[in-house]
Amino acid sequence: MHNATLSEQLFGQAGASSASAEAYLVDRRELSFFLWEQCRLEESFLGHEPFASTDRQRVEALLDKAQAFAAKLAAAYRPSDLEGAHRADDGSVVVPKAFFGLWDEFRRDWGWVRRLGEQSSTQGTAGEGIPPLVVQAITEMFMGANPAFMTYGGFTAFAMRLIEQHGTDAQRATFLDKLANDTWDACYCATETQAGSDLTAIATQAEPLGGDVYALTGHKRYITAGMHPLTENTVGVVIARVKDPVQRAFSLSCFLVPWRWPEADGSLSANHVECDHVEDKMGFSGCANTHLVFGRSGTTRGYLLGNRPDVALPQLITLMRSARISTAQFGVAMASSAYLHSVRHATTRIQGRRFTENADAGAVKVPIVEHFDVQRMLLDMRSKVEGCRGMIGKLVAHLTHVERLIAASSAHGNDSSVRCATLAELDRHRKMVLLYTPVIKAYVSDEAWRIATTAIQVHGGVGYLRNGPVEQYARDIKVLSIWEGTNYMQAQDLLRDKLNYGRQSTLLRYFEEDIDAFMTQRGRWPALSAEFDVLQSAIDALRLALDRVRELSAAGEFMVISQFCTRFLEIFAEVVLGWVQLEIATVAADRLAALPEGDAQRPFYSGKLKSARFYLHDTLGAVAFKADTLRRSSQTFIGVTADEFGPVPRRETAVARGAKAPASMA
Ligand SMILES: Cc1cc2nc3c(=O)[nH]c(=O)nc-3n(C[C@H](O)[C@H](O)[C@H](O)COP(=O)(O)OP(=O)(O)OC[C@H]3O[C@@H](n4cnc5c(N)ncnc54)[C@H](O)[C@@H]3O)c2cc1C
Repeated sequence: MHNATLSEQLFGQAGASSASAEAYLVDRRELSFFLWEQCRLEESFLGHEPFASTDRQRVEALLDKAQAFAAKLAAAYRPSDLEGAHRADDGSVVVPKAFFGLWDEFRRDWGWVRRLGEQSSTQGTAGEGIPPLVVQAITEMFMGANPAFMTYGGFTAFAMRLIEQHGTDAQRATFLDKLANDTWDACYCATETQAGSDLTAIATQAEPLGGDVYALTGHKRYITAGMHPLTENTVGVVIARVKDPVQRAFSLSCFLVPWRWPEADGSLSANHVECDHVEDKMGFSGCANTHLVFGRSGTTRGYLLGNRPDVALPQLITLMRSARISTAQFGVAMASSAYLHSVRHATTRIQGRRFTENADAGAVKVPIVEHFDVQRMLLDMRSKVEGCRGMIGKLVAHLTHVERLIAASSAHGNDSSVRCATLAELDRHRKMVLLYTPVIKAYVSDEAWRIATTAIQVHGGVGYLRNGPVEQYARDIKVLSIWEGTNYMQAQDLLRDKLNYGRQSTLLRYFEEDIDAFMTQRGRWPALSAEFDVLQSAIDALRLALDRVRELSAAGEFMVISQFCTRFLEIFAEVVLGWVQLEIATVAADRLAALPEGDAQRPFYSGKLKSARFYLHDTLGAVAFKADTLRRSSQTFIGVTADEFGPVPRRETAVARGAKAPASMA
């Protein structure tokens, strides 16, 4: 078989890219499929308020423009990694040079895309009337093209929502306009050296100065885009404790700390926030992850959010949710490009002969895409990339429905029957956003890392070299499973807070109703009956796993449950991914039935069908086994004491980096 045809059949048309954007590959045909065929954007949303002013042409034009900007971002991807960010001797922070021009353009044309998940917040901007699903596609291009650049101002929209929801009128007046036009930006400052996952260990203190103004002292670690010269001012959303003689474990408060203090006359004065150093890290080199110090060289002033102490955690719920959705988006954005690079490499790299012709010296050598093990890797990557995009898409579709319903309810004014129905529907969509958030944050970030390492494997030795993009993707992706709450914290959140250990959870009921509604349509696709069977078995296994969790919680066996949270999240996410893949397969099957033999579009859809079948039969089948380990938790639970891991190496015997190993260890 001609190899171009083979790759097209398996993988569709990969990687339309301009020369300047070599680092970033995007498949626009794939994004179009996602929006128009998979999510049915036109039928479900366009034509309804608040999206009635938008048609397909407008969306495609916007995507073209976004792709052109992504190409500019991509041109700076590698150089900004090499250049990195650092602290200068004068204490200022230096960022990659290319970011200045990119920031100006981003701010002018694209600032509104940050508002994904922030209802109606694109009003009055160039993005007015654009559904969040389209914003998802645009954001994916930007985050895949230059993830480090996209961290700058990455918290601005989330901070705005926080201030809109919880700030005092005066705080809104001080911050919102500046943040809305990106003159200022925001960052999130929770972590300290001793307080990572455990925020109760936060030690930064705030002493009242009068009114809602406090003096902050302490330090914050790893802060993403925490100090930089791209904006006039940065506002830290800082978590600290109001100084109190009685130390209370959960007394965390949220402060708005501008790095430069806005005076009554509109001028800005020093607020004594120092960057001690920029972290030297594995990836995201162009992003300044700063170690910040407050109140060392003078008084650092901050406003207590809403002038309400001790309520930081409930205030921050929306901000954290948005940041987690954004993390999943980073993951799929980079993983998608890594996958497309792999397809491109596999179709051009000639190596070896076909498995059955190995011993025949005269047999023709083939591109590695002809080797079935390489196809296995590519199908694994592809099904996960498209599945993860679809999982995020499910959440974003719920957000899009929220916007539609809010617009509909204001159009119906005081008609109480319509209002009640709308409120019930609204509640349902909002709850599904809550349910999917920890799932996508954890699963997509873990899978994106696996996809990036598989991309290196497909590339062989060149994948390991620094002059190609896939190793940079791997380095950049890894942190996604760590920041915004480690993936274990997401798993715990899913099982405990969202699913209530399987006990009377409304979120679970809504989820089951949605997936069951899809499954009841199986009769329409008899050719996919085996795939529907696999998904049904996985759903049944998920229910059994949840039954077991319910039993364990009723028996008070929470330590046992804690060992299985991560596995449970994985099972849950794989079921959702299987659902997404089967939805894709049904669309592809319908299209294939309608297209004549030999039509140029057929390989795109037959490739989708193969990829879905691969995922459902190869990966989803393992869900039953994983669920069974939970069912057998009395045998599989392992509580290990620290000394059972063996003697802990003492510091003095550990070999320092770069030091010569002692003879006994060499
Ligand atoms: C590049 C980068 C950017 C960041 N950006 C920001 C930022 O902008 N703002 C900010 O505030 N922070 C930021 N962080 C900090 C980040 O949120 C923390 O690193 C993260 O919360 C984990 O904390 P930790 O590193 O102290 O790990 P730890 O909390 O020490 O965790 C180590 C391991 O132990 C596990 N663990 C910890 N506690 C438990 C538990 N109770 N039960 C089970 N397992 C547990 C964790 O899951 C993890 O696997 C950033 C970090 C990095 C690396």
